[in-house]
Amino acid sequence: MSLKERIQQVEHRVLAACERSGRQRDDVKVVAVTKYVSLETTGLLLDEGIAHIGENRPQRAVPKWEALGGRGIWHFIGSLQTNKVKDVIGKFQYIHSLDRLSLAKELEKRAAALGITVSVFLQVNVSGESSKQGIRPEEAAQFLKEVAALSHVKVIGLMTMAPIEEDPELTRPVFRRLRELRDQLNAQQISQEPLTELSMGMSGDFEVAIEEGATWIRLGTILVGKGEET
Ligand SMILES: *Cc1c(COP(=O)(O)O)cnc(C)c1O
Repeated sequence: MSLKERIQQVEHRVLAACERSGRQRDDVKVVAVTKYVSLETTGLLLDEGIAHIGENRPQRAVPKWEALGGRGIWHFIGSLQTNKVKDVIGKFQYIHSLDRLSLAKELEKRAAALGITVSVFLQVNVSGESSKQGIRPEEAAQFLKEVAALSHVKVIGLMTMAPIEEDPELTRPVFRRLRELRDQLNAQQISQEPLTELSMGMSGDFEVAIEEGATWIRLGTILVGKGEET
């Protein structure tokens, strides 16, 4: 299948999931996760009109970003070491994986130095799996309070990864819990502006995530394939 066909097929499924759940297509944005694919394929995605690119390793992502001349809007989706913040700041507009205060403080320092604001999602480990990154749901209110005090780091929402399930329906409670947590945090008015975004759903479970309120889905395999490791 060509890249164009893959994009069309995914678009069709996203649209159907939006219609099923009474949502507007515009309310769900796709981040094309290019961590498995080459610079060339990443460039082709941009040529096809994909705007949002997701990467999880600074060492691989930054050279790609540079080679593509900063085309597209870049999302950092992996675990981020504090000493790598200086490499990604100013290149990645969105960080989906904020999970500790030391990282937030480093982002604040580096963003302030550049005179920019970086948009972040708090990563929450809803499923409680030990292999997953993220704060526990019970810690979210306190963490949000601490990050909300930083003026160059803007928390726009929450992110989670669901367990890998053969039956995507089994991921639904995880996505629902993230949405409820966001709504609870908003009701507590901890941050100045409400959290509007939910980054949840990947190739195996994005339709369920959309039904549960995802505003950003992160798609790798289904959109770009998995073959060519860069
Ligand atoms: C790799 C990755 C994705 C995309 O995974 P696919 O299942 O290939 O769609 C999404 N989110 C994160 C955080 C990832 O690391």
